[in-house]
Amino acid sequence: MTPVTEQIQTPYFVIDEPILNRYYDMLVDSLSSNWNNYLVGYSFKTNSLPWLVSYVKKRGAYAEVVSEDEYSLAKYMGFRDSEIIYNGPYKGEQSFCNVLLAGGIVNLDSMQEIRWLTNLVSQYPDKPFSVGIRANFNLEKMCPGETTMGEVSGRFGFCYETGKFAEALGILQNTPNVSVTGLHLHSSSKSRSVNIFRSIARMACQLKAEFDLNLEYIDLGGGYCGGMEGRPEYPDYFPAVAEELGRYFSPAHTRLIVEPGISLISKCTTFVTSVFDTRDIKGTRYVMTDGSRFNIDPTMIKSSHLFHVKQCSAGSRPILDSQIISGFTCMEVDRLFTYTDQSELVPGDRIIYENVGGYTMSLNPLFIQYFPAVYVRNGYDMRMVRKKWTPEEYVQGSEWEQ
Ligand SMILES: *Cc1c(COP(=O)(O)O)cnc(C)c1O
Repeated sequence: MTPVTEQIQTPYFVIDEPILNRYYDMLVDSLSSNWNNYLVGYSFKTNSLPWLVSYVKKRGAYAEVVSEDEYSLAKYMGFRDSEIIYNGPYKGEQSFCNVLLAGGIVNLDSMQEIRWLTNLVSQYPDKPFSVGIRANFNLEKMCPGETTMGEVSGRFGFCYETGKFAEALGILQNTPNVSVTGLHLHSSSKSRSVNIFRSIARMACQLKAEFDLNLEYIDLGGGYCGGMEGRPEYPDYFPAVAEELGRYFSPAHTRLIVEPGISLISKCTTFVTSVFDTRDIKGTRYVMTDGSRFNIDPTMIKSSHLFHVKQCSAGSRPILDSQIISGFTCMEVDRLFTYTDQSELVPGDRIIYENVGGYTMSLNPLFIQYFPAVYVRNGYDMRMVRKKWTPEEYVQGSEWEQ
C-alpha cells in the first residue's frame, strides 16, 4: 500500500524521481547538442546513497571517486575498473593500479602517484598506459572574486604558475609506455558561474597550446549550479564551454568529461521535519524540530534555507515576531533559521527543506539520532530506499562484552 505522505514518520529525505530525470536529461541533452563526445562521472562524495549511485549507473555515468573507500563502494555497486574516474589527493595504491590496468581514468594529483605509476609501468614493460593530470592554476585571476580560495592557492594537482605542472608533465613524457591523454581542471568556485567554466575551458586550450598536448579528454570536474532560481543551469554552461574548446579541440578527437554532483541532485531532494515542542525562554520562542542542522547543513555554512511549512491544523493562528527554528540535538548551535512575522508553529506542523541533495546525506553524522530514512517519490508512489538506522546498524562491526 502506498503510504500517505502525512503518515510517514519524520524526519526523512525524499528524492523526487521525475525531477531527477529532468535534470539528468537536461545534462545529457546539453552535452550532446554542444559537444557530442562526452562522459558523465557522478561525484560519489556529493551523495553516494546506493539508490542514487545505481540510478546514475543505469543512465551510463561512470563513478567519480576520491578515496579507496569510495572506489570500493563503486566496485561493490557493480562499476568495473574501466568505469571509474579516480581523482583527488588520497587514492590507494592498489586501487590506483587496478583502474590504470583496466583502462579507467586516473587523474594524477601528486609526485607520489607518479612514483606509483612508474613502478607499475616497470612491472608491465609491454603495456601502454594512459593517464590524466590535474592542473592547479590561478582561476581567481581569470574570474576575480569568484573562486573559493580567492588569492590563496588551491591545494590540489600540479601548479601551473610555479612550474610544477611542467615538471610533472616532463617526467611523464619521459616515462616509456606512458602517455598523458587527459587534463583534469576541477576548481571550486563560490559563484559556479558560466564564466568559471568558460575560463576553465580556456585554460585547457592554453595548456594544450603551451605544452603541445594530444588530449583524448578534458575533464572539467564538477561545481555547476542546478535548480537555483536566477542561477545558471546545464544548458547555460556547455555552449560557452564548447565555444572555447572548439578553438583548439574537436569532439572527434577529444572527449569532454563532466563530474556533476550537487547540480544533479539538489533540486530533486527535500528533507521533511516535524515540530515536536515549542518553548518560551526569556521572551524567545524556540521551535524544536526532529530535523537538525546537522542533517542539512553539516558543515555549518548556510545562512539561509529554502523551505515551506505545512500546518497540521486549519484555523487562524497568532502571528509571532520571531520563532527560532531549532534541531533536536543538545547543541546550542543547532538552530536552523529565525521565522520572522509568521503564524505560530505548533507540534505536528511540518517544515520541509528544499534543495538538500548534495553534501547533506553524505556528511550526516551519527550524532544523537542515527541516519534518517530516505524515500523516492514518483507521483503518488513513495518508496523507501534507505531505512532509518537503528542500533543494529550502529553497532555493526563492534565487539563488546555481552
Ligand atoms: C567535489 C568534486 C566534484 C563535484 O562537485 P559538485 O560541486 O558537487 O558538483 C567533482 N569533481 C571533483 C574532483 C570534486 O572534488
